[in-house]
Amino acid sequence: MTSGAGAPWAAYWTRDSPGAVLSVLRELDRAVTINELAGELGMSRTATRQRLDLLLEADLVTGVSQEAATGGRPAGLFQLNRKRGVVLIADAGATGVRFAVCDLVAEVLDELEDEHDITDGPEVVLGHIRRRFDELLARNGLTPADVLAVGIDVPGPVDHQSGRVVNPPIMTGWHDYHVPGVFSDYACPVVVEKDANAMAIGEQRAQHPDTANLVFVKLGTGIGTGLVLQGRIYRGEVGAAGDVGHIPFAQPGKPDDPDVPLCRCGNVGCIEAYAGGWALVRDLTRLGHDVRSVSDLARTIERRDPDTRELMRTAGHIIGTAVSDLVSILNPRTVVVGGRLAAADDRLMAMIRETVYHRALPLATRELAIVASTLGEHAGVLGLAHLAIDRALHPATVDALVAGL
Ligand SMILES: [Zn+2]
Repeated sequence: MTSGAGAPWAAYWTRDSPGAVLSVLRELDRAVTINELAGELGMSRTATRQRLDLLLEADLVTGVSQEAATGGRPAGLFQLNRKRGVVLIADAGATGVRFAVCDLVAEVLDELEDEHDITDGPEVVLGHIRRRFDELLARNGLTPADVLAVGIDVPGPVDHQSGRVVNPPIMTGWHDYHVPGVFSDYACPVVVEKDANAMAIGEQRAQHPDTANLVFVKLGTGIGTGLVLQGRIYRGEVGAAGDVGHIPFAQPGKPDDPDVPLCRCGNVGCIEAYAGGWALVRDLTRLGHDVRSVSDLARTIERRDPDTRELMRTAGHIIGTAVSDLVSILNPRTVVVGGRLAAADDRLMAMIRETVYHRALPLATRELAIVASTLGEHAGVLGLAHLAIDRALHPATVDALVAGL
């Protein structure tokens, strides 16, 4: 068996605990016989049967009969019980939030969407999320006991270990807020993630499962990046890895150089200060257009307004410069470009591609594909569902559950 690129539990394959056996079943992603499973595990049939019995008792695995398909004597087939529980997801952007309840193979069972304002602060926003979760459970006949993990993402940096938001530039009042605390009465793991990381995992698991190294670039109000390296999110030491929006595109020739724009991070000359959605809104306003938000900007792009087309060409080049730096340093196989602005302008993709192939190191671009997101706004929910399930069915968690029976 090859180790799937998207298998963060792969390291547990050599272990022989029930949790490791469940991980192999998840990786196989189909119903298998005991003999097949024993072969995959390199274990005896008896030892495999013992682990399976524990997983069956915990209702984490179900047996399915082959009888209907073959008409012969039923052969026992086993697979993950995807209905053993659910994960609750909230994908919170700057101005809207998507909620979903998903089964244990990340299939969305129910979802809803609200407008909100992330700057209302954590009590208001998370209080609303909490109420919507309870509604989703109630209308699907579920209780908090069915929830095996919660996944939340926010449009800002997160300390993944603690679940605290760290100095978010656009999330007033959120700094150091402990997000998992709001959901403690569910008595399950709470995964808190930066939105671009969740989207990166969503794209990788659903659309590029054979790609171990993937960079996701989100072009919306700001410029966000999610890095998947060796099949896992790479966050860096404190969650700041890959934040290309705030690397310099230009250095001022002298202090207060008027040609070098001020960034919302307080620095000057950042990539985002030229090519982020908010900067393009600023530039179009200066040119006399009535454009107040990235949604307005997307509409002027769709109208093929000449000023906007020219601005987007330049933005594509500047974003391409940042992406080429990421490509030279990380050598990903795939770069996925998503977010509101990417969806609005296909020439932006062409410009990014042209710049990256021109600037990045030739060896780094030899196998490189730069593609537009096909999941669009669903990438965040899907990625969070996978991350929440990975946490809920982590081999150590499963082993503890089985041992506690
Ligand atoms: Zn900046």
